[in-house]
Amino acid sequence: MNINIAPSVNINSILRDWVERQPARRLFAFVDSRGETLEDYDYAGFAARVETLAARLAETDGLQPGDRVVLAYQPGIELVAALFACSKVGLVPIPTPPVSAFDFVAWVGRVDHIVADSGALAWLACGRTREFFAEGRQRYTDPMPRAAADRLDALRVIETTAIETDPDATAPDKPRPIAFLQYTSGSTSNPKGVCVSHQNLIANCSAAVPRHGEVAVTWLPQHHDMGLIGYYIYAVLSGSTTWGLSPRSFMQNPSIWLELLTRYKATATSVPNFALELCLNERHVPPAKLDQYDLSTLRTFMVAAEPVSPETFEAFRRKFARCGLKDEAFFVAYGLAEFTLAVSSRGRRAVSVDRRRLAQGQAALVTETTGVSHALPLMSCGRALGDTDIRIVDPDTGIEVSDGRTGEIWCAGAGRALGYWQKPEDNREIFDAHLVDAAGVDKPFLRTGDIGFMQDGELFVCGRLKDMIIIRGQNIYPEDIEALALQVYPELRRNGVVAFSSGDGNEMDITLVAEIARGNEMPDEVEIVRVIREGLQVPVARVVFVPPRSVARTSSGKVRRARTRELLETGQMPILVDTRHALAAVR
Ligand code: ATP
Ligand code: MG
Repeated sequence: MNINIAPSVNINSILRDWVERQPARRLFAFVDSRGETLEDYDYAGFAARVETLAARLAETDGLQPGDRVVLAYQPGIELVAALFACSKVGLVPIPTPPVSAFDFVAWVGRVDHIVADSGALAWLACGRTREFFAEGRQRYTDPMPRAAADRLDALRVIETTAIETDPDATAPDKPRPIAFLQYTSGSTSNPKGVCVSHQNLIANCSAAVPRHGEVAVTWLPQHHDMGLIGYYIYAVLSGSTTWGLSPRSFMQNPSIWLELLTRYKATATSVPNFALELCLNERHVPPAKLDQYDLSTLRTFMVAAEPVSPETFEAFRRKFARCGLKDEAFFVAYGLAEFTLAVSSRGRRAVSVDRRRLAQGQAALVTETTGVSHALPLMSCGRALGDTDIRIVDPDTGIEVSDGRTGEIWCAGAGRALGYWQKPEDNREIFDAHLVDAAGVDKPFLRTGDIGFMQDGELFVCGRLKDMIIIRGQNIYPEDIEALALQVYPELRRNGVVAFSSGDGNEMDITLVAEIARGNEMPDEVEIVRVIREGLQVPVARVVFVPPRSVARTSSGKVRRARTRELLETGQMPILVDTRHALAAVR
């Protein structure tokens, strides 16, 4: 793979090249929850939209190349056009989640953080975002959202959807090395702004998307790297077509995704684990409807963004084999914003490791003689993509660990982003860690903050360093505790169970918070604690049952363990049952 990309090549020059080669090919279409087309752009039409917006931005007084601008849109293609327009004239765009009337407080908090962190001067928006914003600002009189909304209101706002496309528009070409700022999901702390370069995008796309002319269907959020980069930016870079719909359309009617994959003979799609689970639920996808779906055209059906359950993966593979889903097309990938998007891909097998030895940093594959409750099943995240070099390193010493041991996942290669926006100290530590390669050459590595191991050239991810619970020298992964709780009570809400350490430095304990759907019987917490103690030899001191949607999540739906602990400890969590005192008796 050629990763020496000429500096004159950037995402805008690649768009221009495709417009010359295939002006009338469909680039983007966006559909509603019934599959009706709302927007439809061929390559030439999208480029004209980009050129129109870029020309307007270039003329706007007070905006200079290098300035940051926030993109605040409802789901649709305008956000993507605005991103390409900013990049063309050298502005640094920052995608944000769409605002709606009922999550205004969370939205305003996130965007206020992004504006303060990046020093953004303006926001580009659609008419509906402006309406929602005005409504939310009126409705909420609490000091926090009010002050944040006032700060946003003080910025310049450009409503780009009010600008008509001018087919003759031309804008100056002033791209800078940074294509845009991608804020991380905020699973472990406040979102951090990753500076993603044109070169990162081009190299990572050629490693992750081997062919030109894919036809993708995606409902992934457009402010998150997996959706925005994977299906909107990489569609342009690889001369492909993307049919988009909003995450809300999918959540309202998950089968619409399967219908669209069938209708458009899609070759590519990606989802997180929870989407597989929704489709396994017969209420959403009744068995009688399976004959209507044809997934045989898919060459890429990727599951990523959060841990993938081997059980769910296998159940989905079996159920949808009937619809023509090919084994070689269905796989797991791993990546993170700090490495542009994708690190490894094409993981298809699961292994089981010994839970007790994992706590001591050993990835010991389970043999038949090991007890079942001691076997932790993990899904492979596949092999390194393109020029990516993956190493497993002791996070304390910075030295590579020996084979069969777990450690922090470090990555080198063209996907390593430029760094966090204006955080030189973090960047030295996180983006500029060093190791020597096989030829004795010193290379800069990204520290991913994730723990994992390699097995036969494939990467397995165990969890996040920041979330790891250390008790009596044992490293316990909250994911493992959560999986055991779900094993005992499958009716607990998946993706709604979190474990974290509690107590002070002398006496560390584990707390488990679990969402329980209304109408379900309360599970027996003593049984949960017993199974966790048996499997992991660790005590759980407190089990708290909470109503659905109480566990803190990111705007892309990932659990936030530290934030959940904070909500619980500061009395901001609605509680159905708290077993702290009852459990003290059985410890
Ligand atoms: P923040 O960095 O703000 O805490 P985040 O890490 O969730 O949030 P992203 O960059 O969107 O932000 O997500 C990347 C992370 O998602 C990875 O570092 C990893 O922890 C997790 N992840 C991605 N793919 C997988 C996978 N296949 N298996 C397990 N975890 C995964
Ligand atoms: Mg992260």
